[in-house]
Amino acid sequence: MIRAKLTKGLKTGTMSMGSLFDDEKYKLTNGNRCTYCGTEESLTLDHFVPRIIGGLDTGDNLVPACRSCNSSKGKSDVLEWYQRKEEFPPLMVIRRYLKITVEMAQTAGILDFPIDSKEVQDLPISVKAIPTERFPLTSELSL
Ligand SMILES: [Zn+2]
Repeated sequence: MIRAKLTKGLKTGTMSMGSLFDDEKYKLTNGNRCTYCGTEESLTLDHFVPRIIGGLDTGDNLVPACRSCNSSKGKSDVLEWYQRKEEFPPLMVIRRYLKITVEMAQTAGILDFPIDSKEVQDLPISVKAIPTERFPLTSELSL
């Protein structure tokens, strides 16, 4: 219900995706940490959606990541990478992924296309990797 209302609002222009301001503020006030595992060691700058598959040089797409996560993730889709590790992604990773997904779909003019359409499948992200069921308990989630 909420998702349908948001999709309609995005399509008609009566609603817009919020900024990642709260996430960025959290990063600044809680020390610079790896977006993926939370460590403060050996930080690098990572393209959330890798440039090689179409990620942009934008603030929303650049995140701090430790060398280990950056290397392990490589040019993988970040949600598929978490699936391979059999870990549920942190909430801020999911939020960032959703925002970038909506922006890419809006730019491509395919926001209302079916998830199985060729146009959606051609996006440089894996829409089907977005968790839609079997969420962990709230106490097991991380930011
Ligand atoms: Zn890490």
